[in-house]
Amino acid sequence: MRRVTVFGSTGSIGESTLDLLSREQDVQVIALTGGRNVERLAEQARTFRAGIAVTAFDDCLPALRDALQGSGVEAASGSAALLEAADRPADWVMSAIVGAAGLAPGLHALGQGKVLALANKESLVSAGPLLLGSAVRHGATVLPVDSEHSAIFQALRGEDQATVERVIITASGGPFRTWSREAMARATPAEAGRHPNWDMGQRITIDSASLFNKAMEVIETREFFGFSPHQIEVLVHPQSAVHALVGFVDGALMAHLGAPDMRHAIGHALHWPERRVLPVERLDLARLGRLDFEAPDEGRFPALRLARDVMRAGGLAGAVFTAAKETALDHFIAGRIGFLDMAGVVEESLTRLAAQPDFGRPADNLDAVLAMDGLARRTAAEIAAMRGLTTTGA
Ligand code: NAD
Ligand code: MG
Repeated sequence: MRRVTVFGSTGSIGESTLDLLSREQDVQVIALTGGRNVERLAEQARTFRAGIAVTAFDDCLPALRDALQGSGVEAASGSAALLEAADRPADWVMSAIVGAAGLAPGLHALGQGKVLALANKESLVSAGPLLLGSAVRHGATVLPVDSEHSAIFQALRGEDQATVERVIITASGGPFRTWSREAMARATPAEAGRHPNWDMGQRITIDSASLFNKAMEVIETREFFGFSPHQIEVLVHPQSAVHALVGFVDGALMAHLGAPDMRHAIGHALHWPERRVLPVERLDLARLGRLDFEAPDEGRFPALRLARDVMRAGGLAGAVFTAAKETALDHFIAGRIGFLDMAGVVEESLTRLAAQPDFGRPADNLDAVLAMDGLARRTAAEIAAMRGLTTTGA
């Protein structure tokens, strides 16, 4: 019997993970966690006969309790309950909470010394050394679930990483790939929330439109595999069929292709080190006809430049980047700042906080990361409020 826990089970990655788990024999679900969608969380917990269902928010607990009445599933709420669920022994844990909120549960899950399938890229960007250091200390394995990183991981199988010259991660370019800067400045959250190829949560979809998602993935590539910043490239590829390419010293370029379905990367992490049959569409290249590639335009998508600044700065710059980006995204979704203001808010937050004594401190301590995260959120909110005033002309 394989014991499994899914953090963020009600989200896009969480649902895909449960879809795969529903096809498995001998799986025992230890814990499922979600946010405000308690109806769905309770439904999942009943279907999978989970040991415990946890909502992140205390005000949602009464509704969760009601929905689980008579099911035998324990109900709990709040960050302490999330950590308690993470401490319950499990053989495979999916980390699919969105945002920096996924860091602490992921760290606790690693304490069990098992496999952590990591979709929550924010925890690597803000605290890579802490997360990976903890995995080493506890003898746990972290497997990448982001499609690009799963692709690199697969292309590296059986290879000597010292023979890698460069890695290229692809970006669809999002809905604004061909838009002018002026049009992008006026883009609405609804327009930014329409991804051409992937069906994902709202936040990552908007981050894909700004290329902040790709910027985070560049940093994620550096943290996860240890490549130097100059070895990591981004290529715009509108069809999203090639997820990543690894270039070797002999000039060979190994590409990973697949349908845009996260169940491939999740399934790879679920069955690793084996390969098993997965219920994903097989690519029909003849029907696709062509694969296009273009260089990203950093003028319209400054997030990529900011990712390089963050890698150059090191220390807690990644924590500032993640927190400021999340705050800017909240302000954009609420209609308080414009689409292009998001990069402005993140850049100014990084510039202001670079003067902090702790900014250059290694991201290997949870308290230091969380303190910088809090400071970055307050700073970004202040900057966003100023920009909001300017934008609305008040
Ligand atoms: P989503 O918004 O669909 O789901 C997020 C999950 O986290 C939900 O269960 C939600 O209830 C829960 N949640 C939200 N706020 C929370 C909080 N404060 N505390 C605890 N739980 C909270 O997001 P998603 O698209 O599934 O993405 C999840 C993670 O996976 C993100 O880090 C994202 O970057 C990463 N990822 C997603 C995809 C994708 O295709 N969706 C691909 C690659 C990586
Ligand atoms: Mg990705």
